[in-house]
Amino acid sequence: MTTNVAPPTSPNTRAANLEGLAQRTRPWDVLVVGGGITGAGVAREAARRGLAVLLVEQRDFAWGTSSRSSKMVHGGLRYLAQGDVKLTRDALRERERLLREAPTLVTRTGYFWNHRKGQSPGRIALGLALELYDRMAGIRDHHFVPRREYLERVPGLNPEGLQGATYFTDSIVDDARLVLRVLDEARADGALAINYMRVTGLLQDGPRVAGARIEDVVSGASFEVPARVVINATGAWADGLRGQLVRETKVRPLRGSHLVFARERLPLNEVVGFLHRKDKRPVFVYPWGGATVVGTTDLDHRAPLSDEPRITEEELAYLLGGVQREFPEAGLGREDVLSTWAGVRPVVASGKGISPSKERRDHVVWDDRGLITVTGGKLTTFRSIALDALAKAAPHVPGLDARDDRAPTFRKVDTKLESTLPQPVLDRLVGRYGPLAARFLAEMPTSELVPVGETDTLVADLRWAARHEAVVRLEDLLLRRTRLGIVLRDGGSAHAELIRRTVQAELGLSDEAYAAAWSAYLQLVRSSYGLPTAGS
Ligand SMILES: Cc1cc2nc3c(=O)[nH]c(=O)nc-3n(C[C@H](O)[C@H](O)[C@H](O)COP(=O)(O)OP(=O)(O)OC[C@H]3O[C@@H](n4cnc5c(N)ncnc54)[C@H](O)[C@@H]3O)c2cc1C
Repeated sequence: MTTNVAPPTSPNTRAANLEGLAQRTRPWDVLVVGGGITGAGVAREAARRGLAVLLVEQRDFAWGTSSRSSKMVHGGLRYLAQGDVKLTRDALRERERLLREAPTLVTRTGYFWNHRKGQSPGRIALGLALELYDRMAGIRDHHFVPRREYLERVPGLNPEGLQGATYFTDSIVDDARLVLRVLDEARADGALAINYMRVTGLLQDGPRVAGARIEDVVSGASFEVPARVVINATGAWADGLRGQLVRETKVRPLRGSHLVFARERLPLNEVVGFLHRKDKRPVFVYPWGGATVVGTTDLDHRAPLSDEPRITEEELAYLLGGVQREFPEAGLGREDVLSTWAGVRPVVASGKGISPSKERRDHVVWDDRGLITVTGGKLTTFRSIALDALAKAAPHVPGLDARDDRAPTFRKVDTKLESTLPQPVLDRLVGRYGPLAARFLAEMPTSELVPVGETDTLVADLRWAARHEAVVRLEDLLLRRTRLGIVLRDGGSAHAELIRRTVQAELGLSDEAYAAAWSAYLQLVRSSYGLPTAGS
């Protein structure tokens, strides 16, 4: 339990944020473009240093890759196997830090890695790698699980050639909520973050970048925002903004897709990892958000980046084939898939034409005359990525000291909430809302502190988000503030009336406007978060 409690941050509305923008007459110190984890991390670190920070996101916070990851805060054993010790060490250090600072948002989770006859890495090689992995994290949390015990702990596994498993721990997060929590910390230190604001061009003062032209996607208004430095944290879109200054393609967009099943169809308490027999890539099956997820793929993404990424037939067959083979007793078929999601990794291309899975995953930072581009990397390492970006920005911002002072990302939160709700529910609220959890409980109707169907999402989560979390479209509410659109079949349409009753008035929508919003949401979910559509 922690005590030293910081004052709660005020809730977040888009109207209040727009007012904050209109009030600023002087140039911003830092303009961050992109509201994913990278942009949020930069805004958080810059605001903590007393700088005037504006972050703009063209769609919704975490709309890009940062709500579509595999949701693991991890060191990345795979990177260690590829010899990338530095990336693994940095990621493990950040993982441990996040577990300390936000333990109910980022949760330590058990992983089993299957050993089957003839497959590598074998038990001894993996044990040695984990010795190093755990030592770099300062923990000791791995052991071999013999076959019989493993089959008891994970019933339904294919016993063919199974020799046992290696158990270790990493962690899992709700990626979109992580972005929101980091943005909330940035706002607590004075940063302004506005969604549905697109940067349409860069302002220049001679050769130097001096701000950006921004379009308010909701109202259609355009205006100029001067800034000492512009940080291009647009992930897979980074070449687009940078293209105004430099003609160079750096990002190799790689798509990864996932399948979601109802927990009762494949109940798991720990992650199970295995080598896919088709191409010997690691695939994970894991519990997340009350459902079971299978992922991921790793393919060149050739569709336009302006379109929502979606799973293809080929990826569905690959992931389904993998999980059917590992868990034959579950009898899973495509009709069991509740939903899917696909994300695009902003991987910095080596230019060597190597296979997607062999490309390095670390981040890169460039300074093009005051446009600092930061791309690549991982969800897990957002803090160190932010520090590197600020170090590159320092020459443009007098007095900016970007050295790592090891200050926490998250303020301490009072975890002793006064409520009769079960402890796991309270833990979840602290993880999601941080310092605002107590206010959430005080403000939300008791009758709504109940789950939506079989999920762990409370009805009150919907009301709170609609009221306080800058929701513009229903997809913001149902795909990112909450994840109901992912963990329920057909975007949660079985609960459509409950959702409408809870949020329509909060969003200030007439019956007609709400009906149109719901139909746009369902169309999006069916085209991009469901089974592949014909021809894909
Ligand atoms: C399938 C998959 C699985 C992954 N799994 C993991 C994992 O388990 N663990 C892990 O640590 N990492 C994982 N990653 C990597 C991680 O998700 C990404 O590195 C990270 O989310 C990238 O964040 P970002 O902020 O750089 O990009 P994004 O989250 O994409 O954010 C960039 C934002 O910029 C916005 N933008 C673009 N152009 C403009 C503009 N002109 N004006 C305003 N805004 C603009 C976009 O709308 C977007 O929201 C995974 C990635 C994928 C694809």
